[in-house]
Amino acid sequence: AADKIDTIVSLSKRRGFVYPCSEIYGGQRAAWDYGPLGVELKENIKRQWWRTMVTSRDDIVGLDSSVILAREVWEASGHVEAFVDPLTECTSCHKRYRADHLEEAYEAKRGRLPENGLADITCPNCGNKGTFTEPKMFNGLLQTFLGPTQDESGRAFLRPETAQGIFVNYKAVEQTSRKKPPFGIAQTGKSFRNEITPGNFIFRTREFEQMEMEFFVKPGEDEQWQEYWMQQRWDWYVGLGLNPDNMRFFEHPKEKLSHYSKRTVDIEYRFNFGGSEFSELEGIANRTDYDLRTHSEKSGTDLSYFDQDANERWFPYVIEPAAGLNRAMLAFLLDAYFEDEAPNAKGKLEKRTVLRLDPRLAPVKAAILPLSRNADLSPKARSLAADLRQYWNCDFDDAGAIGRRYRRQDEIGTPFCITVDFDTLEDDAVTVRSRDTMQQERVSLDQVVGYLAARLPG
Ligand code: ATP
Repeated sequence: AADKIDTIVSLSKRRGFVYPCSEIYGGQRAAWDYGPLGVELKENIKRQWWRTMVTSRDDIVGLDSSVILAREVWEASGHVEAFVDPLTECTSCHKRYRADHLEEAYEAKRGRLPENGLADITCPNCGNKGTFTEPKMFNGLLQTFLGPTQDESGRAFLRPETAQGIFVNYKAVEQTSRKKPPFGIAQTGKSFRNEITPGNFIFRTREFEQMEMEFFVKPGEDEQWQEYWMQQRWDWYVGLGLNPDNMRFFEHPKEKLSHYSKRTVDIEYRFNFGGSEFSELEGIANRTDYDLRTHSEKSGTDLSYFDQDANERWFPYVIEPAAGLNRAMLAFLLDAYFEDEAPNAKGKLEKRTVLRLDPRLAPVKAAILPLSRNADLSPKARSLAADLRQYWNCDFDDAGAIGRRYRRQDEIGTPFCITVDFDTLEDDAVTVRSRDTMQQERVSLDQVVGYLAARLPG
């Protein structure tokens, strides 16, 4: 299972999903860049999220707030004080860890917490036991300076979550969109955390993308809404092809909840990183009225809601499904990866790698393949590709044996390959091959758009 991650890392690099960041300079540790296929896959996931969460609903609107907000926002939200992780260092090999991660890995392996805390734990790097320093709290906010002087007056924070941009715009959005609780505000975008131990490929990085939605509800209705959103979010992953056998809910123990949370339940995926089988994909938190209340107190702007029907004023409670785009991408890739067999040109079965990505997520929707590089076939195929590109991201490939070209498309999850052959010159039809069934169908050229449209949901 751990080698499945390695397989995905190497496929990602080889085919242009994900490259190591700044590799020509030796690389920037635990940072990644998204190549031509990666950016398509990421955009497709984001688009599906936006459709499901925003445009298909009457009760959620979108927002795109700044990455750098007023410093007071992070003081009020509690991040300056409480966005901290316990940092420990191995005194033998000087590797740094998050103390809670070490304990969690111990617990996952042995089914119980270490009795003497860190003293019972062996350093995963050098193998020495009991060599950890007393944990020190370390703030995870990434800092920068605005303006010409690099002093306290210019200190600013890059957002560690998109949520605060939503809370500080709450009143403006409520008034301009004329929504009343229960309603939500959704936002996608980059967030930054000075993670102590980034790693596991794109799972944990210091710069990442979130897809968050804050759903504002009447106090007392929060618990049902949390259940509702847990189910909705679970269904979203399953609907896009994630195998539910590889997913589970994880209920955060009360004593470990974040400073703002009444209840947090994660959707976890079986990433199978060394040490832990399941890891967090998305968190669904009941943030109570903590954020709107503290921002009201600290800013002096009343963010409570006047409920005309009941003639009373209250602070909405907030249910927050917070997803990580990069983690979702990794889960979809791992889950879609299969090795099976396909017949080669001579009809002999050969191993093939296939990404069974949902067609809505597949980076390339169709590949147009002239049977051979030929003065008659290529122009016909190019003109078909140009037509199809008006609707979908398509590949054109006329290099090498047709079987090898099918394999290349299977490996990146392209749902349809369209072959232009010598019969095409006679019958104005092409062969459409499906990635999953490997069935081939003859489709007339003027029907190809309709054929694909019926099989490629938006
Ligand atoms: P973890 O416990 O793994 O550090 P978290 O509980 O701090 O995660 P949240 O604050 O709930 O994470 O953030 C919401 C989502 O944002 C996470 O479920 C995850 O998908 C994503 N996320 C958070 N931190 C990172 C990171 N460093 N790299 C990539 N994605 C992240």
